Amino acid sequence: MMRQWQVLQACFRLCNMLWARRCTTLAISPATKSKEELLVVVGGGAAGVYGAIHAKTVAPHLSVVVIEKGKPLSKVKVSGGGRCNVTNGHCVDNMILAENYPRGHKELRGSFFNTHGPVDTMSWFVSQGVELKVEDDGRVFPVSNSSSSIIDCLMSEVKERGVSVQTRKTVTAVSILSSGKFLLEVQQHTSVHAEHVEADYLLIASGSSRQGYTLASQLGHSVVDPVPSLFTFKIEDLRLRELSGVTFPKVKVRLKLDSVQRNIPQLTQVGPMLVTHWGLSGPVVLRLSAWGARFLFSSGYKGKLFVDFIPDLHVESLKSVLSHHKLQYAKQKVLNSCPPEFGITKRFWSYVLERQGLSGDILWASISNSSLMSIGSLLKDCVFEVTGKGQFKDEFVTAGGVPLSEIMLNTMESKICSRLFFAGEILNVDGVTGGFNFQNAWSGGFIAGTTIGGLALGSYLGSK
Ligand SMILES: Cc1cc2nc3c(=O)[nH]c(=O)nc-3n(C[C@H](O)[C@H](O)[C@H](O)COP(=O)(O)OP(=O)(O)OC[C@H]3O[C@@H](n4cnc5c(N)ncnc54)[C@H](O)[C@@H]3O)c2cc1C
Repeated sequence: MMRQWQVLQACFRLCNMLWARRCTTLAISPATKSKEELLVVVGGGAAGVYGAIHAKTVAPHLSVVVIEKGKPLSKVKVSGGGRCNVTNGHCVDNMILAENYPRGHKELRGSFFNTHGPVDTMSWFVSQGVELKVEDDGRVFPVSNSSSSIIDCLMSEVKERGVSVQTRKTVTAVSILSSGKFLLEVQQHTSVHAEHVEADYLLIASGSSRQGYTLASQLGHSVVDPVPSLFTFKIEDLRLRELSGVTFPKVKVRLKLDSVQRNIPQLTQVGPMLVTHWGLSGPVVLRLSAWGARFLFSSGYKGKLFVDFIPDLHVESLKSVLSHHKLQYAKQKVLNSCPPEFGITKRFWSYVLERQGLSGDILWASISNSSLMSIGSLLKDCVFEVTGKGQFKDEFVTAGGVPLSEIMLNTMESKICSRLFFAGEILNVDGVTGGFNFQNAWSGGFIAGTTIGGLALGSYLGSK
């Protein structure tokens, strides 16, 4: 009797589960009919939304549901200081474009950007009515200078194409059913009960969220440990702090870390630098932070930064400029007369003199030749102690994620699990600042979306 009761109870539980699953499938996608296929996109960021739109463009009959735990496109909103640096317009050659990805520079040289590169992305947004402009440094922004133009464009396309975006829901687990479909567990924020959804295709575009990495692992993928990239350097130097706001249009910087014994060319960079109230920033520092992201992480963000403030002048020429200046301006105070060839500000010149222990009030004539040589060395090879990682408010990205070796980059399909796709920051790809990170999201989203659309169309036509 007891045994029969237990069996009956188990049947009830099973029926309830099946009923719940049927109900929630309907809740996730009201339009799904038994023969219609369903694509679930995990994550409503740039990669997920762009992928969903393109899947639906290729296969309008396909049901496409984007599940987003927060608000869709929230990073797009804050990106580029609220202006959204959509892509980079200076890299027409895909080989050069790929060099802007510390993780991915080898793999992305091939089909990835050929299929959908910056020009394709720009054309798509322009075709949707978003006016874009390319700034001198190659960064592409909407003419409106507002990320809302990008968000409005994507969301109106989502609506037009009939993509369903379900917010405040988190995909918490995934498994594969014997039918080959994906069974997703979806947690609604307002409910204690989880929904279950069966999907024919799965696109994981969950950015750098831990849950996304867990989903990838549950489907057999490995995950390269995530570490931060694109940050500024903290430098403990009170005198440097007084220079906060000073910019250098062109410096050459070299990062030396105890954990790195070999020569890594990318740990030397040339470009503009900015002094902040906590240390150093600007494109050159951000590029170093990206290329050195893993090494800096393992060094506890401690190391030495060697800065050449006058990279276009050889050290010997620089020293001879100083010697000539001493002769020519012997009667002038050093602080008031910096050699114009150096192109540096008076504030920075004062910092250099102070670091050398020289008073700005002394006359050029009184400076010893050895002091002159030291000034020369300081300008060419100035050492700063990096004591930590700062923040860069305009952009931040994670290095690490699903390795590209586990993905077919011409389709973005997993090599481990068929009908599973990845796009965007969840992959072990990250770019330097300048629009390259969004480009990874657009390209990956496009390739995954159009591939899924193609598969769905094939199976739809085959079933007719
Ligand atoms: C402040 C800031 C500014 C930036 N500015 C720029 C810029 O100007 N140009 C540029 O190229 N790059 C910029 N970046 C980087 C760029 O935003 C990212 O590279 C890009 O957003 C990655 O897109 P994605 O779709 O892969 O991931 P995301 O944009 O992170 O989207 C992933 C989405 O998935 C959701 N999600 C995660 N897990 C789950 C789950 N389990 N269930 C449901 N939903 C889930 C998240 O809530 C998120 O909305 C910036 C980044 C930051 C932080």
